[in-house]
Amino acid sequence: MQRRSFLKASILSGIGFNAASFLHAAERSSWAAGPLVISSANGLRATQKAMELIRSGADALDAVIAGVNIIENDPKDHSVGYGGLPNEEGVVELDSCVMHGPTHNAGSVGALRHIKTPSKVARLVMERTDHELLVGEGALRFAKDHGFKEENLLTDEARKIWLHWKETLSDKDDWFPEDNPDIPKNYKELSKTTGTITCMGIDLNGNISGVTTTSGLAFKIPGRVGDSPIIGAGLYVDNEVGACGSTGRGEENLKNLSCFLVVELMRQGVSPKDACLEAAKRIVKHAKIPSLRRKDGRPNFNVSFYAFNKKGEFGAGTIYGPRKFAVNDGKENKLYTAAYLFKK
Ligand code: ASP
Repeated sequence: MQRRSFLKASILSGIGFNAASFLHAAERSSWAAGPLVISSANGLRATQKAMELIRSGADALDAVIAGVNIIENDPKDHSVGYGGLPNEEGVVELDSCVMHGPTHNAGSVGALRHIKTPSKVARLVMERTDHELLVGEGALRFAKDHGFKEENLLTDEARKIWLHWKETLSDKDDWFPEDNPDIPKNYKELSKTTGTITCMGIDLNGNISGVTTTSGLAFKIPGRVGDSPIIGAGLYVDNEVGACGSTGRGEENLKNLSCFLVVELMRQGVSPKDACLEAAKRIVKHAKIPSLRRKDGRPNFNVSFYAFNKKGEFGAGTIYGPRKFAVNDGKENKLYTAAYLFKK
């Protein structure tokens, strides 16, 4: 038993709490459905990997982290980890959190530079510190103390997309865009990319865990931290209820603590899909400032939610759709279409 868990158990037994049965209850939950893994649309490889591990007996937390590590290490996904789009100065800064249902424990990192797999560092914050969130320089030093290697996370492609963004920002500055027909047309499109992977699972013991990991908003102000490392905003797990993760404009999730809201709605019996749509509606209602609105009054951003309850019912809801999400129910690993408030 870890020192901290031991201390907590000792304190609980000191006040007449049966720590042994508490810990047992925390390890095994009896009324969950079969194994399930759900993720954002970029997570089909993650759901596949996580389910394989869960089927071989892994804890849901080990499984979902191993799943998202595939995407974090993939240079082609410009929204997560290695190959993620950088901040406005061309430096990749990553956010991540993990939440472990059986212990209701969590760990996070924000604005972490030079480490490919922030989800693994977030897990270490949970397991090897008395803190929940480490950011910036302190998070990097902590990762290095644990043997992570500093690497350049800016791939050549991400650098070119960033440079193209910088050179086309203004015609009043001194940066000229390259006069080169070979510049991929989709650079402009890609430069608007936001994205993240969130992945949550139920293991063979009926326990639930989740992870969210991202490079955040492309070209953000250095030091900007989004919803992805904030428990309740970009991820929330309650082992007795279910889990919710989110992608999209993090600032709105931070102002609405949306994933916590989804799980609380599911606690009251609302289906995962309806709970996700309700969180999307709440964001739309609260997005009052003009900079968040289009001319027609609708939001000029998107936010998506992915959730399941302990019965194994799952769903997703988004402001603008259609949009896909990935599910592995132990039989099939495939994309489903999320419910949405407005057609794109
Ligand atoms: N939620 C992420 C953030 O705001 C970005 C995204 O999912 O697109 O950092």
